[in-house]
Amino acid sequence: MNANFQINVGDWKTKPAALTRLKPVSGSDYQKLRQCRWKLIKLARERPACNAYFLSLPNHRSLTSLLGDSSIWVSLVEPCPFNYGESWEAHNAIGVTALALVSGQQQLLATLVHEFAHINGVDSSGHSAELAALACGFGNWKELLTGEDDPDTPYDPSING
Ligand SMILES: [Zn+2]
Repeated sequence: MNANFQINVGDWKTKPAALTRLKPVSGSDYQKLRQCRWKLIKLARERPACNAYFLSLPNHRSLTSLLGDSSIWVSLVEPCPFNYGESWEAHNAIGVTALALVSGQQQLLATLVHEFAHINGVDSSGHSAELAALACGFGNWKELLTGEDDPDTPYDPSING
């Protein structure tokens, strides 16, 4: 059961001291992230395009592999210069913001997928991390083709980074 990515509830013993903005989650936020963890495992299994996209990224790991990596930790990040999340590839650390946690399950799932793409080696200069959200079904291709965001999907074609 524990051979999946970890959700920081204050039990991250090896948390790097420098990552002071990463905080434990509790209560309903923990439950939301737990539900997302199982949803993502199911998604990666049932949607081959998702793992295929992840395998094309710099570290060539599938989303299934990343989700099953218990050395990766997800925490609350505050403050955060971005709307929904931030990550530190070198530390296998992902932070989701309070906004991401109150923006609905689809947005939280898309945020996690975006941040896992960074853990898979995507730098923060282009559209590749956000494209992971599209590849995993959190947007529609018309948005990419037209560059116009559909506010009903989490994917945003204008996000670089
Ligand atoms: Zn990003």
